[in-house]
Amino acid sequence: MSATFRIVNGRVYDPINDIDGVVQDICVQDGKIVASLPEDAKTIDARGMVVMPGGVDMHCHIAGPKVNMARKLQPEDHRHDPHPRTPFTRSGSGGTVPSTFATGYRYAMLGYTTAMEAAVPPLGALHTIEELHDTPILDKGFFVLLANNLFLYQLLQEGRREEFRDAVAWWFNVTRAYAPKLVNPGGDEAWKRGNSNIVDLDDQVEGFKVTPRQIIEALVDAANELNLPHPAHIHCNNLGIAGNYQTTLETMRTITGRRAHITHIQFHTYGGPFGGKPISKAREIVDYISKHPEISADVGQVMFGRATGMTADAPLAWMLRRVTGSKWVNVDVENESGCGIVAVEYKDTNYVHALQWGIGLELFLLSDDPWRMVLSTDHPNGGSFMSYPRLIRLLMDRQFRNDQIRAVNQQAMKKTVLLDDLQREYSLQEIAIITRAGPARLLGLTDKGHLGVGADADITVYMEDEDKEEMFSLPRYVIKDGKLIIEDGEFREDHHGRILHVAPDYNPDIEKSLRPFFDKYYTLQFENYGVGEQYLHSHQVIPTTGQ
Ligand SMILES: [Zn+2]
Repeated sequence: MSATFRIVNGRVYDPINDIDGVVQDICVQDGKIVASLPEDAKTIDARGMVVMPGGVDMHCHIAGPKVNMARKLQPEDHRHDPHPRTPFTRSGSGGTVPSTFATGYRYAMLGYTTAMEAAVPPLGALHTIEELHDTPILDKGFFVLLANNLFLYQLLQEGRREEFRDAVAWWFNVTRAYAPKLVNPGGDEAWKRGNSNIVDLDDQVEGFKVTPRQIIEALVDAANELNLPHPAHIHCNNLGIAGNYQTTLETMRTITGRRAHITHIQFHTYGGPFGGKPISKAREIVDYISKHPEISADVGQVMFGRATGMTADAPLAWMLRRVTGSKWVNVDVENESGCGIVAVEYKDTNYVHALQWGIGLELFLLSDDPWRMVLSTDHPNGGSFMSYPRLIRLLMDRQFRNDQIRAVNQQAMKKTVLLDDLQREYSLQEIAIITRAGPARLLGLTDKGHLGVGADADITVYMEDEDKEEMFSLPRYVIKDGKLIIEDGEFREDHHGRILHVAPDYNPDIEKSLRPFFDKYYTLQFENYGVGEQYLHSHQVIPTTGQ
């Protein structure tokens, strides 16, 4: 049973309920926020402190086969960063790809209480669920990779759109996924067949009469028709390549008027000759999104230091391996996806790395709607989630930001607007939007990202501090489901969060087509493919509205 208590005297930032720094009580009972409590209820005094909903990371890579492969690839990444056990918590290792337990604890230490693993092939669903169960404190879910799926390609090229939607819904039910993920549609098939890539949205995918444009439209439509809480989550074609902002704009034009999310958009905001030296096109991307309320994005900020490239975009990983010369692993996933992992280090002296860092900041600073341009580093691709406090300081502290801008590669900065001494400083309310309220709303998690009556009692209390990196590095209290988990940087209790997933309705006749496809092309039997009920210890089905 969770505790009952009232948080008093704290300044509350709760953008969804339009509360902007007002001193007011927050009442907690049975894991939820409630309207009031008896006078004699226990209190937590938050005088001089800031009260926010728990952080929500809508795009990170924390569990599943590729994450595990990345751990194995880089023992040196963990060796110098042990995560010791405490009376309440288990041990682990850190680095850019922490072990499961350390991942949960370290997110919680920053005040985060929900995180979404952003790319899992259906064949990796069970592994992912098992690792997510081992990732403590957090509520979590995963996005399932569907844009390089050969069964779906077959239905699409035959114009069987209703069955396409049923198959998508079937995949959600058998994998227990949360949202549909598109990664370089068509690119993995080109990689598997000839170690090549697909460049144009209207190029045909080798072996099929489908194009990336058709795949994108079909999956965006299926997600919207199924009323999924989060729409299609798109990693566009041509990630990381100069000139790719045209592909990004064209992707957004293709789905105009239809709800969709473009992820780590910084990596898709490059001008310059295709494949040549990149420049920033942040203004063009921000302008398009500003005029299209149906589109949202997360930034995918690059932070200097060690990172790990891990992606279902296999040809991209090969390109990164050629650029970095560092160790690399490629894994094809039969019928469903590809995968590549590369060790990366972002250097502030490097033109491209500094430009990427600068474009991310431009996207944050030029965007006029923080609800639709939310914070991510695409952990651990652009940098670790542990760098979020520093990123928050870059957004909130103009002097600090300008000092940093002057210290990095100046040729790169000249290709951005950052040398113009941008005045914008994010307020605490805007930080609350891009780190909790915005991601929760975009994910369709109505009980998260706010502190209104009925919300999950996931609450973070920070000491006010001029140094925002300091402030956001070490919350005073972290409360999950109404339990006081962390006080003054010390764990008081462990906690097992929930798996969040969807289960949209579908016509079961689709299995009549799926079964023979499995018999013919999969190495796994149809019966052994899905994640059975017995693996879902603690979970919550998020309703698909309209059903
Ligand atoms: Zn990602």
